[in-house]
Amino acid sequence: MKTFFLLLSLLLSGSIFAQDYYLQCGKILDTESGKYLSEQTIIVTGNKITAIQKGYPVPTNENTKVIDLKSYTVLPGLIDFHVHLESETNPNHYLEAFTLDKEDIAFRAQEYAKRTLFAGFTTVRDLGGSGVNIALRNAIDGGWTIGPRIFTAGKAIGTTGGHADPTNGNSSELMGNPGPKEGVINGVDDARKAVRQRYKNGADVIKITATGGVLSVAKSGQNPQFTLEEIKAICETAKDYGFHVAAHAHGDEGMQRAILGGVKTIEHGTLMSDETMELMKEHDAYLVPTITAGKEVSINAEIEGYFPPVVEVKAREIGPKIQATFGKAYKKGVGIAFGTDAGVFKHGENAREFVYMVEAGMPEIKAIQAATLTNAMILKMENELGQINIGFLADIIAVQGDPLKDISILRKVDFVMKDGVPVKSEF
Ligand SMILES: [Zn+2]
Repeated sequence: MKTFFLLLSLLLSGSIFAQDYYLQCGKILDTESGKYLSEQTIIVTGNKITAIQKGYPVPTNENTKVIDLKSYTVLPGLIDFHVHLESETNPNHYLEAFTLDKEDIAFRAQEYAKRTLFAGFTTVRDLGGSGVNIALRNAIDGGWTIGPRIFTAGKAIGTTGGHADPTNGNSSELMGNPGPKEGVINGVDDARKAVRQRYKNGADVIKITATGGVLSVAKSGQNPQFTLEEIKAICETAKDYGFHVAAHAHGDEGMQRAILGGVKTIEHGTLMSDETMELMKEHDAYLVPTITAGKEVSINAEIEGYFPPVVEVKAREIGPKIQATFGKAYKKGVGIAFGTDAGVFKHGENAREFVYMVEAGMPEIKAIQAATLTNAMILKMENELGQINIGFLADIIAVQGDPLKDISILRKVDFVMKDGVPVKSEF
C-alpha cells in the first residue's frame, strides 16, 4: 500500500498548498438518485469538488495530478455515526482503565483513526471517551496526524451508577464521587452544567446513556437511567450551544424518555416497541443501529473470561437482538442513520454494518444513503458531505465492483481522498 506521507509531511511543516486533481472515474454513484454515472472526471481544487466532466479530459495545468480510477466505482466518503476511537475490544479492556495513561490512549487512538479513514470512513461521530477524542480531532484538523473528520462528544453523560459512570464496578475506595465535569449528573442543574462543561472542553455533540448498557459492570443492560426532566434539561441546553444529542438506549422506557426529551438519535435501540417506533417518526428521531457491535459482543461472550460475569450475561441477552429490531424499525419507516459502535469491534471493520443492514432487509442503496445523505443531513452538512457534487468537500472513495449488487464490496476500499488529499491508494 502506498500512503501519501509526503503530503502528510507537507501538512505537518505547515506549508499547505492546494494540489489539484483530476480523478478519472469508471463509475460514480449518485447517492441521491441511486444511479451510476459512467466515465466521468471529478475535478478537485483545494479541498473541494469544483467540476464533474463527462469523459476523461486532460488537465491544462501541468501541476494538476491525474488519478486513474477508470476501473473503479467511486462514492462519497462514508460517515459512521457511532465510533469510540479511544479504545478497542480486547480481553484486558477492564484492566486497562487502571493501567493506561491518557498518553497511551492517545497513541492507540491515532492508529484507530487512521484505520477508520483507510476503511473509507472520512467522517465520524465519536460518541464517548476520556477527552482524548477531542485532542485527536484537533490534531487531525491541524494536520498533525491523519484520520476522519471527527464530531466528538468528549466524555459521555450518565447518572450515578449508570452506563457512563466511569467508576462503575470499582472498589469503594476507587469509586469516589464523579460529577458533571466527569459526565455524571443527578438533577437538572447538573444536567445543564455537564453540557456547558462539554462546550467548554470543545465537544461537537452530546452523548447520553439513557439506559443501562452491555459493557458496564452493572446489573441491568436496559433500565431507564435519567428522568425525563434531566433529558429535557440536557437537550434544551445542548440546543443553546448548537449541539444535537445522541442517546445510547437498549430498554424501551429510557428510549421513550429520550425521544420525548428531544434527542436526535437513538443508539442501538435494541428493545424498541412498536409504540416507540411511532414516537421516533413523530419526533423526527433517527435510529443508529450498531448491529456489528451486537454481533461482536455475542461472539465474545462465548470466550471464557473475555467479559466480567455480569457483562457476559447481558452480552448474550442483548447482543443478538439488535439486528431484528433494526429490520423491523426500517420496515415501519423509522429514519435510519448509519453507525456501528466501532471500538466494541475492531476499528476499520466499520463496513460490516452494511452487510448486516442488507441482511435485515434494507436495500443496498438505502444503506449507503444512511451512511452518506442521512448522516450529512443530521450534521447539517448536507451541502458539503454525502455526495459527489460540485461545491462539496472532496471526500471520495473507490471500490472495485458494484456495491449495489454486492454490498460487501464496501469492506475493501482501495482509494481514499479526504478534504482533497489522497491518503490511501492501493493499486
Ligand atoms: Zn458506543
